[in-house]
Formats: sequence, structure tokens, C-alpha cells
Amino acid sequence: MRKEHYVFPLEDFISRDDFNRIKKFSRGKETPFLTVNLQKIEQSYDELVEHMPFAKIHYAVKANPMDEVVLALKSKGSNFDVATVYELDQLLRLGVESERISYGNTIKKEKDIEYAYEKGVRLYVTDSDSDLKKLARKAPGSRVFFRVLTESDGADWPLSKKFGAHPDLIYKLIMKAEKLGLEPYGLSFHVGSQQRDIGQWDNAISKCKYLFEAVAEKGIHLKMINLGGGFPAKYQDQAHDLETYAGEIRRFLHEDFGEELPEIIIEPGRSLVANAGIIVSEVVMISKKARFNQYKWVYLDIGKFGGLIETLDECIKYPIFCDKKGCAEEVILAGPTCDSMDILYEHHKYTFPHTMREGNRVYIFTTGAYTQSYSSVCFNGFPPLKTYLI
Ligand SMILES: *Cc1c(COP(=O)(O)O)cnc(C)c1O
Repeated sequence: MRKEHYVFPLEDFISRDDFNRIKKFSRGKETPFLTVNLQKIEQSYDELVEHMPFAKIHYAVKANPMDEVVLALKSKGSNFDVATVYELDQLLRLGVESERISYGNTIKKEKDIEYAYEKGVRLYVTDSDSDLKKLARKAPGSRVFFRVLTESDGADWPLSKKFGAHPDLIYKLIMKAEKLGLEPYGLSFHVGSQQRDIGQWDNAISKCKYLFEAVAEKGIHLKMINLGGGFPAKYQDQAHDLETYAGEIRRFLHEDFGEELPEIIIEPGRSLVANAGIIVSEVVMISKKARFNQYKWVYLDIGKFGGLIETLDECIKYPIFCDKKGCAEEVILAGPTCDSMDILYEHHKYTFPHTMREGNRVYIFTTGAYTQSYSSVCFNGFPPLKTYLI
């Protein structure tokens, strides 16, 4: 049997020069750790502004809540979407004005709404009767946008049915909001994270159009659509580029709303920060379960609990590079903890050079989003993922 050479499209993710810089930087440092390149985040922000000049950006802080990331985006002029009062406190501490902050979690304690209102937040999402009443009590007069349920089909990291409500219920909530002294301001949706099917925005925008018209008949004029997140980062399975997303979404909006668009907000998380991160990890062990097993097991010093939780169900397939030459060999990839669910990729086989040895380093690309903040506090005694700015 002739064996193929191991090939990895490194230049799709980083230039050779930048890669050599990372390698040099990593020398002598204990792995695993994440490196974050702020300039890349700023570039992604600029690209987003270039391609979607009609949209106001509210960065979804949860994707990468590092202070430095927030500050970089703050100075770019970004607004922010928070999920909790803790993120709110962080932003206020960093000098972000409350007018630039939306509270984008449909699940809120009443006392947290009261706190956010006290701090000056006046833009809230809702998707239920219960939450709407809390908002009316604790955030009177605020602008409220209503989250419409979408299907998440086509998304690598679906958000399922946890958020949003059916348009019929949203219609009722909009009517009620006004009676309760809130300002029904607009609609929102999230088509699912790392959404590959751009058509999902078309479906969601159509639902918005229908609701805009339905409530207008009752004299309520909504002003805003929040298109959520879902914009792509560069993983192993590539998606269309941002320009294509932006062009298509603009077309869907104009098809439904004509020349005069409502105010458009987007809440990018992943697409702003993922490409800026690289995790450096080490091979802890290579073994076989039986002498004639087809696949080796390769155990890294990072796994699901160290920051790679988005490998659940092998949803997000990170590009992983081993800087060795050799024949391509398919392996099973797992993390270092004593938990049997800590396997990264078993069904989808990753390929590494047959010369890979214990102690070798691997570089996990596109890890600037949903990694460090997801890493466990001390499971098995492993410390949370270290992060360096480069
Ligand atoms: C997580 C989240 C986002 C960010 O989504 P990405 O797919 O990472 O861009 C945006 N809006 C809301 C409400 C979210 O919960």
C-alpha cells in the first residue's frame, strides 16, 4: 500500500513568518496555552464594517471576554452585547458607556434587570411573558426587542430551541409590551453559530417582515432588526467568506424591506475573535488499544475541559497542525483528563504524520472564540487555559 504524505494547508490559517514567530514565542513555555492576536481581531472588525456598513455591531462578549479584547473593540467604536450582570460590570469597569450595551440574554433574574437598569442599560431582549413583566417592573420605558425562534439548521454549533418564541407569541408580547410601558423596539434572532447556510437569514428576515407588518396594523412601528451572530470563522470545513454572507443578507433585507431598511444590529462573537487565536498543545501519549488496532490514540494536554468544549459531538472541527514530515496517518484524538467523554475526535479522523511522537507540539488554529472562557476551573487539577497576547 502506498502511503500519502502528510499535508496541512498551513497558509490558509497563518503565514509561514507568523507561524515561525508563534513557534519561537512558545519555546520553553509550558503547554497548553492560547495565544491571541489583537491585530487580527481589529482586522476582522474592520472587515465587518466594510462589508456590512449598514449594521451596528454589538460584540457578543461571551465569545472572548478578555479585557484586552474588549478594550480593542471599544476603541474601534464597537457596541457590546452582554449575557449577565458580570459581563456588564466588566464593561463598565473598562469604561464602556451603558448606551453602548445591550442585555441580550432572554433568561434574567429580576434583580439583575434592576441592576442593569440602575447602571443605565436601556436595551433588552425578551422572548417570554414572564421576562417581559420583569422588564416592565424593573426597566420601565426601556427599548425591548423580541427574539424570534429559528431552526438552526445548517449551523455547526446549533442553539436549538432554547431561545426565542414563535411569531404568534411574539406578536402578543409586542402588544403587551406597549401596554406595560415599555418601548417595543425591534426583533432579533440567531440562526445558529457558525452557520453555513446563508439562506437561514432569509427565512428569519421573512418572519421579521411578517411581524413588522402585523403589528403596524395595530399602530406599533418597530424600528430595528437584530440579525444576531452566526457569521463564520475559518475551521477545517470552510464556509463562504464574509463578503458573500454580507452581500446575500443585504439582498434578503432589501427584498423584504425595500430601500428604507430599519436599523440593523448584528451581534458577532465567533467571526470577530476565533481566527485570532491559536492554542499550543503537546502530545502526552500515543498508544494502541490492541496490537492490531487500526487506529492509534493520540492524547493531547488539552481536551474538552481545558477549553475545547465545542468539540462536543465533533461539532467544531479545529484545524490542527503537527510540524513534522511523514506519511499521513489517521488517528483518534483525545484530551488528558480522567473523564471518558474527554475525546476530541473519534468518528471524524484527524490526520498526522506517522513520525509524530510524544512531546511534540501541535497547533490548534481558530481557537480565539469559546475556548479560554469555557475552560474548567480545576477539573482533575488542570488549571484554566493560560492566555498570552501576541
Ligand atoms: C452567543 C451569541 C451571539 C454570538 O454568536 P456567534 O455565532 O458567536 O457570532 C450573538 N447573540 C447572542 C444573543 C448570543 O447568545
